[in-house]
Amino acid sequence: MVTAEQPSVIAGTLVLAERVGPGAVVVRDGLVEEVVHGSRRVADLQWPGFIAPGLVDIHVHGARGRSFNEPDSRAWHSVTEAHREHGTTTTLATLGTSALPQLREAIAIGTAELATGHGGLAGLHLEGPYLADGYRGAHPPDLLRQPTDGHWREFTDHGTVRMVTLAPELAGAKEAITGLSGRGVVVSAGHSAANADQVREAVAHGVRHAAHLWSGHTELRRHGPVREPGLLEAVLGSEELTAELIADGHHVTADMTRVAYRCLGPDRLCLVSDASPGTGLPTGARFGMGAIEGTVAQGVAISRDGRSFCGSVSFLADVLRFAVRQAAVPLVDAVRMATATPARAAGLADGVGRLKAGGRADLLLLDRALKVGAVLAAGRWVRPPAHAQARS
Ligand SMILES: [Zn+2]
Repeated sequence: MVTAEQPSVIAGTLVLAERVGPGAVVVRDGLVEEVVHGSRRVADLQWPGFIAPGLVDIHVHGARGRSFNEPDSRAWHSVTEAHREHGTTTTLATLGTSALPQLREAIAIGTAELATGHGGLAGLHLEGPYLADGYRGAHPPDLLRQPTDGHWREFTDHGTVRMVTLAPELAGAKEAITGLSGRGVVVSAGHSAANADQVREAVAHGVRHAAHLWSGHTELRRHGPVREPGLLEAVLGSEELTAELIADGHHVTADMTRVAYRCLGPDRLCLVSDASPGTGLPTGARFGMGAIEGTVAQGVAISRDGRSFCGSVSFLADVLRFAVRQAAVPLVDAVRMATATPARAAGLADGVGRLKAGGRADLLLLDRALKVGAVLAAGRWVRPPAHAQARS
């Protein structure tokens, strides 16, 4: 079996950036030593399904009743472990809107956790507090703020925030977009009342990405016979923006997944889970996420007042499987949309989300039905293969 100490060879059907085919991955000391094409190499593990890079989730809030909004390192460990066991080996911990003291505390905990390198954490993603009231979804209205408050500077002083989702039409947003971009933070448009012209202006100031399509987005509005496109159309029609899609069958359907895939393609569309603390909990379970309270119902997370979703109850591997099996996205593209594409969109290190020599040995082993079979994180099994045929 694979250990961190000695080289091990895991063979199967490799899902690489451009193609799917037989091959093997040689792992040594937590890193990929070599990626071998063809099926002749003797393997320590002959996996009967697919071998993909570990998944990269850039929009994920929680799991198993806990969330990244909690200023408690045990909560952070519990969330990252749950996602790693389900195939997500790189996580951008996403903090929903909360009061300033709680947000500061959560950023401090996240910064400390990042320093430990624990659990595949790659950085923080602030979703709020600079969101439009009319498109806030489940974010608490009394805690929304305007970027004129200037607090975005202190939020990003640690250098650990990689992405900020904000509404680009708010007062002070242009200055914040320019300032955040200058600090190397990816600015994402989302939970926004902007029309397409305002989005283009925001892109000129540095917006590079858009949060979950169809969730918190303006869509085509009509004023009599006159049509005014929104954030959704601006993103789907753009030549440069990357965007997230919560392809869980609830936030978007198979049709909507195909529209987004055809418009943006596998190099600009990022599959995300937007996983709430309800992920991994049974139907009817209740949870808290900062100031938001939710319930697991009918395969999704619903805010306690019943007026909106408050994230999904899916892991990214579930979203990947939906995109392929329900929306007919080719496997090779869907894997890229859950690995290399989000890694690049979030500005993560070159090599994250790819199987290549010298990279961290993060592998996701899927069975033929695309269910998670095993997960290797930094060369160690966080979920060992149950039915693999191991050869010595
Ligand atoms: Zn979210």
